[in-house]
This record gives sequence, C-alpha cells and structure tokens, in this order.
Amino acid sequence: MLCLTLTGTTLEEDFAQYERNRQWIKLVELRIDLLDESELSTASSFPDRVDVPVILTCRRISDGGNCGLPERQRLSLVRTVAAGHFAYVDIEDDVKKTEFEHELHERGIKIIRSYHDCQGMPADIYSRLSRMATKGDIPKIAVTPKTFMDVISLFRIEQELADVPEKIVIGMGDMGVPTRILYKRTGSFLTFCSDGRSISGAPGHLTPKMMSELYRADQVDKQTHIYGVIGNPVLHTASPMIHNPGFHAIRFNAIYVPFLVDSVRSFFKLAESLRIYGFSVTIPHKQDVLPYLGRITREVKQIGSCNTVVRIQNMWKGINTDYYGFLAPIQREIEQGRIHSALVIGAGGAARAVVWALHNHNIKVTIVNRSKEKAKALAEETMGGYDSLENICAYQGQVDLVVQTTSVGMAPDIDGDPAPDFRFIGSEIVYDLVYKPHETKFLARANAAGCRIQYGIDMLVQQGKLQFEAFTGYHYPQWASIYEME
Ligand code: NAP
Repeated sequence: MLCLTLTGTTLEEDFAQYERNRQWIKLVELRIDLLDESELSTASSFPDRVDVPVILTCRRISDGGNCGLPERQRLSLVRTVAAGHFAYVDIEDDVKKTEFEHELHERGIKIIRSYHDCQGMPADIYSRLSRMATKGDIPKIAVTPKTFMDVISLFRIEQELADVPEKIVIGMGDMGVPTRILYKRTGSFLTFCSDGRSISGAPGHLTPKMMSELYRADQVDKQTHIYGVIGNPVLHTASPMIHNPGFHAIRFNAIYVPFLVDSVRSFFKLAESLRIYGFSVTIPHKQDVLPYLGRITREVKQIGSCNTVVRIQNMWKGINTDYYGFLAPIQREIEQGRIHSALVIGAGGAARAVVWALHNHNIKVTIVNRSKEKAKALAEETMGGYDSLENICAYQGQVDLVVQTTSVGMAPDIDGDPAPDFRFIGSEIVYDLVYKPHETKFLARANAAGCRIQYGIDMLVQQGKLQFEAFTGYHYPQWASIYEME
C-alpha cells in the first residue's frame, strides 16, 4: 500500500495534497507535528474529509519530526486529536503503555509502535522489531542506512521476521530509497511517499505518482525480476525512466531500481540474496565491478570499464552499451564511408568508449584533452594522435567528426564551452555526449555553422535500449513511452 505523508502546515494544504494524489494512494498519514498550532483544534475531524484510512502521527524533533512540546503535553495532544475517526495511531516504542492504548483498541484503532533512528541503524534491529511485535501492535522501524551492508540488513528482515505479518520497514535517506520502492521485499505492508512540492520535509521520499506509475511498487510480487542501476551518486539517473516503461510495455513482471552503492562487493551480496537479474553501472563503479564478472565482451576488455551486468547461467557477464550507444546515431555515416577522421575532446571514461568504437571502425582519431598525459595514454592504447586541449584550433576544418566528451557545458554549468575559440566549417558532424541541456553551447555553435549535429540524449537512450535487450532478450518496444520526470 502507498501511504501519503501529509506535510502541510494547514489542514487545507493537507487536503489539497490528498486530492492531488488520491488516485495513487491507499491511505494517508496526518502529521500533526507539522501543522500550525491554530490548526490543532480541528485536526481530529480530518479523517471525515477523506475517503481513505488515516494514520495519526505527532513526531518528536528527536525522531526527525517537528514537535518540540514536553512529552506529557505531546501525548495529551495525541490523545485529544485521536478522538477523531483515525484508523491508526503512531505511538513511539519508548512511550509507556497506558489506558489510552486500551481505549484505542476498544475503538478498533490500530497502534503503530514506531522506532526512529535518523543518524544510523541499531545493531539489534531484528530483536527490537520482534520485541515490538510482541506488544500486539504493528511494529514500525524507520532507520538511516549508512552503508550498503545496512541496506542488506533491511532486506533480510523479510526472512528474519517472517512470522510478523504486519510490519513497517523504512530505510531513510538516499541509501534507503530501494527499501522504499521494494518495500514488499523487506516484508513491509506499506511504504510512505510524499507530494512532490513538499518532498524536502521527508528524506528519501518519492512521489506517489513515481511510486505508482514509474515503479509500480505495489505490483511487486515474489515472481518480479529485479534490475537496477548502481552508482554514487545515482538518484539523478534517467535509466529508471527508460527501463520501467519498457518492462511494462512488454508485460514483463520486472522492476528497475536505483541503488546508491558505497561498496560493489556489498552490492553483489544483495544481488545474490534478492536474486537481481541484471544492473546498469555508473560512476564510480564502472571499473570496480570487473573482478566480479565471469565473462566480459571484447569492448569491456578494450575500454576497461563495464556499464551493464547481466546474470547468465549463474554467472555475471559484463558488457559496455556506451560503445554501441555512441555508434548507433552515426552508424549510417560510418557505413557510407563518410567518416575517416575524428577529433575527440576529452580523455575520461566516456572518451574511452568513443575512441575505441571509432578505432575499431578504422577511423583515424586525434584526442585533445586538458591534461595532455591522459590523452597520450589513451592515444597510445588505440594507436591514435593526441594533443593538449589548448591546441585544438590547429584541427579546425581537418576532421569529418568532432566528438565532445568532457563534462563541460553540462547542467548546471550550461554556459560552459570546452573550446570557445574552435571554429566549425559546416561540413563536419559534431556530436556532444552531454545530454543535459539538450543542446549545449558547443553544439549550438556547430548548429549555427551549418554542421550536422548529434545530441547526447540519443546516445543515452540508445545505450539504455541496448541494456534493455541484454536484460530481457527483447528489443526495446517502440510503443513504450519514456517516463518524463516532473
Ligand atoms: P570523466 O571520466 O570524469 O572525464 C571527464 C573529462 O572531462 C576529462 O577528459 C576531463 O579532463 C574533462 N574536463 C572536466 N572538466 C573540464 C574542464 N573544465 N575543462 C576541460 N576539460 C574538462 O567523465 P565521463 O564519464 O567521461 O563523462 C563525461 C561527460 O560525458 C559527462 O557529461 C557525462 O554525463 C557524459 N556522458 C554521456 C553519455 C551519454 O550516453 N550521452 C554517456 C557517458 C557519459 P581532464 O582529464 O583534464 O580532467
């Protein structure tokens, strides 16, 4: 079940959040600790305004909430507001049992016994949860994983506490995001999300729309194949917007989730225990995964980095779809023999895939880079030429293709241009790997000079589609609509 945490300061704001998200959610949590004081006298009537069950919560500051009242007053406030038609009342694990709880049970209101740790995760998480469950309430544990091993511990709760049927497990913060999306795999019966406009109030929360339409988190079952992307950072990646709609379009029971990973070794452990079928790899893990792979393609060997890992007969196979993703948009020109020479700006990870792809197609490559040593090293491997970025103007009008592979010009630094003095003559193809913004300043100059230009987004989408094929064995469906983030 998706539960919308209401984060407004007024009941009207909360009601508006509920209405905006009504189509995706099964219940709401009214956070009276976030409400203005003047709203508290009427908060008990809130459940009568909505047609879903409501959880009543008054979170203390020490638990990540906003209520700074002395404990006695806070509990008295909860008791007063709980006179309304709530379905659940959240009471912290360290609050002593009183007559109030008995009254709630009598009225058919369920109690959520919650434990919060905003700084980390207790070592005794399993015994703590089972002790909380023996009180006859729904245990809720909301903790902050600090390492990927903590994330693994949260996913093990399903096995360790299989005898506790109703429980809530939440990993807060960026590292906890997979536990929110794959909440059913932690054994949790609900997951919290919040309205996009208020997301800053809830660390790690996703919007109900994303949870429901992009991830289809509620539809995960025991048969669902899990895929994902590992990186650090990773939550900005567009890959879930490519793969999840693709899975849905071919009616494949699968989900693709971002994993913020600090240790590749730990991730491979989770990949075994959750039986993950394949994953994309982004910075900084593209080299780190190599020792864990049983098979690699020629391109991975040449480039020395892997951006896609798939499970094949109980072995991990590494491929590099950046290589083919880069080639796809210029394949026709290469086949027509229109590209004999290329100038590649940059010598980082992406440049390695680009230079090897061009070299393997007999295109003469010159690499120019800010640090000449890196250009030299890559040129020596691929038998190409190299120079310092400062000397780029010497190559004006000399090549058929110019490929910009540095991060210069990438949002938010959209005014950046790696070679502002370089002039285009109009007959060359100009390709920029940067995909945000869609058209960089560099590419805009090439466009104005009459060059055929190639956008980085096409490479991104192409490499994603090739990953999809590696994951599923199917071509990426033409009718899948790539999800657009709000
Ligand atoms: P990387 O390994 O960190 O390499 C960065 C490159 O940019 C290096 O050559 C670096 O030069 C150069 N650079 C950075 N700042 C510079 C500056 N101020 N002036 C001149 N050169 C500068 O990064 P990467 O993985 O190759 O990624 C590079 C870009 O490609 C990113 O924007 C990424 O989003 C994009 N990309 C796009 C796709 C796609 O599908 N479209 C795929 C992969 C990557 P030094 O060696 O001198 O530091």
